[in-house]
Amino acid sequence: MTFERTGSRHDMAARRARVARTVRLAPSVVRVTFTGDELSGLPAHGPEDHVKVFFPDPATGELHAPRMVDGALQRPTSGVSVSRDYTPRTLRLTANGTELDLELVLHGVAHDGAPAGPASSWAASAAEGDELVVAGPRGSRGVPAGIDRLVLVADETAMPAAARWIEQAPDDVALTVILDLADDDADAYVDAPAPDGGPSPFARASVERLYRADGPGQVDEAVRSLDLSGEATYVWAAGEATTLIAVRRYLRHELGLGAERVKVDGYWKRGVTNRDHHEPLDPSDPD
Ligand SMILES: Cc1cc2nc3c(=O)[nH]c(=O)nc-3n(C[C@H](O)[C@H](O)[C@H](O)COP(=O)(O)OP(=O)(O)OC[C@H]3O[C@@H](n4cnc5c(N)ncnc54)[C@H](O)[C@@H]3O)c2cc1C
Repeated sequence: MTFERTGSRHDMAARRARVARTVRLAPSVVRVTFTGDELSGLPAHGPEDHVKVFFPDPATGELHAPRMVDGALQRPTSGVSVSRDYTPRTLRLTANGTELDLELVLHGVAHDGAPAGPASSWAASAAEGDELVVAGPRGSRGVPAGIDRLVLVADETAMPAAARWIEQAPDDVALTVILDLADDDADAYVDAPAPDGGPSPFARASVERLYRADGPGQVDEAVRSLDLSGEATYVWAAGEATTLIAVRRYLRHELGLGAERVKVDGYWKRGVTNRDHHEPLDPSDPD
């Protein structure tokens, strides 16, 4: 059984955005709401759409980012350009114009022992009026048509996308979620209200919470404990790349699920700065 995923490509665009407000959803996660005229028309239809966010160079505090000149994207000709991938959690039209929410993990900032990066450092002190540039998304892909069960595996970095998967899944699709959380401080993020003030999207799903503080290997074990024999089940997993290699091997090779039924995406990799998620998750077995 194969499932059709509708998709569309978008013209590349860079948009200036200004911080309107921030909310700390948990000690290590902040929701930053941006505003700005250029945000109108930002296409973010699919659950796992992502944008390149350009942050100031931590060494100089200067922002070197692409800009639109006569409708074409012009890359910066000087300075150091610092960008990272983020999920547009919500885009909404308000009386004050378009608002965009991003939810950023503050690794290395919340005393979790991880090194900080330019994005997490910026987010930890983001304040009203701060400016960034958001480029993309390059494309959008919808929820596969015809599925009756969606299994999501996500750490905190992939929870904005997982929340969108849940929000976009038809009501009759069963939702099973495995969350790979740093520790129980992250529970507040799982339970946080949705951006529109409604209940947490995770309240709609059957959720298993795992805590990395309790030891390694739990994500693989939890996925192995699921019955994934249903022909109309789709599995989406994203988070730390090394953690997900075993999960992908199990799904693709032990269970023999085809690429049309499974997607595993390494959103970041321990010890690697600015991992390119287009690189194969498992170099010994590229797709
Ligand atoms: C498609 C896509 C969508 C994404 N969406 C989101 C999102 O919505 N929210 C979000 O928070 N992240 C998201 N990420 C992940 C984010 O891009 C990375 O975590 C990014 O590396 C953070 O940049 P940085 O400057 O803080 O750290 P970097 O400079 O990239 O890395 C510095 C160090 O920190 C480590 N590190 C990076 N991320 C983490 C982490 N989460 N926990 C612990 N250590 C880490 C690295 O291994 C490295 O050692 C997404 C990634 C992809 C590919």
